[in-house]
Amino acid sequence: MDLKIKDRVAVVTGGSSGIGFETLRLLLAEGAKVAFCGRDAGRLAGASETLRQAFPGAVMLAQPCDVLIPDQVKAFAAVVEAELGGVDMLINNAGQGYVADFAATPREAWLHEAELKLFGVINPVQAFENQLMRSPIASITCVNSLLAKQPEAHMIATSAARAALLNMTLTLSKEMIDKGIRVNSILLGMVESGQWRRRYAERRDREQDWEAWSQHLAARRGIPMRRMGHPQEAAQALLFLASPLASFTTGAALDVSGGFARQC
Ligand code: NDP
Repeated sequence: MDLKIKDRVAVVTGGSSGIGFETLRLLLAEGAKVAFCGRDAGRLAGASETLRQAFPGAVMLAQPCDVLIPDQVKAFAAVVEAELGGVDMLINNAGQGYVADFAATPREAWLHEAELKLFGVINPVQAFENQLMRSPIASITCVNSLLAKQPEAHMIATSAARAALLNMTLTLSKEMIDKGIRVNSILLGMVESGQWRRRYAERRDREQDWEAWSQHLAARRGIPMRRMGHPQEAAQALLFLASPLASFTTGAALDVSGGFARQC
């Protein structure tokens, strides 16, 4: 199926690992031009190298940028405009979760989660909005979590911040319609990626390998498909919403949780 994104420009925040990286891989396979960022220059360079080897002729741009620092995001947007002529699809993916219940969540963590989930999207949207308005296929697609609708006690601050992001993206979608920009989200359950690999590295039972550890976790959490999602599965949903295949869809939040959602 043709996603109609050949030679279109996609910006992916947080592209150096996990879901963002898989999204870049799929975008490049579809012939899109990509720009991506992350805070760690070394990880970005490693990701670029891997992508270059897989897609030798591809147009790609990687720039260190913290999505929480507006000047860095503006500088990233300026480079995208200068080198790629502007963006068609903005994919807001950068971030991570914070694991702690209410008793163990300090004020700083509440503030940081609220800042990361909201301004991690607000800053890129503000920086890229003018470029998006010039695109005939403009879209903003946000990685969000099922926690937005189905909070977990052990991730209370992340859940609350995710709910705020879902609310904000829905409102944003209404405002952006007149500017020709679609705004959608995906609501993830548990997806294998850097975050989970880090938690695996800190596991108590050192005998457990990744397969056993992740399947045990999925079963304990009650995921009906009895496994974590693969980063490509999250990336496929992102590509669909970002591409013109979803041209009549805005304000949507697509569930990608292996049946974990309990609400209708
Ligand atoms: P990874 O840790 O593998 O990837 C996160 C990416 O975001 C990295 O490239 C990281 O690079 C970048 N990043 C993090 N913070 C910033 C920042 N402030 N500015 C710029 N880049 C940043 O995690 P995932 O692929 O799992 O996560 C992707 C998104 O999906 C996140 O928003 C996460 O919260 C969300 N999500 C993931 C779930 C899962 O189960 N995996 C579940 C629900 C939501 P660097 O550290 O170098 O900046």
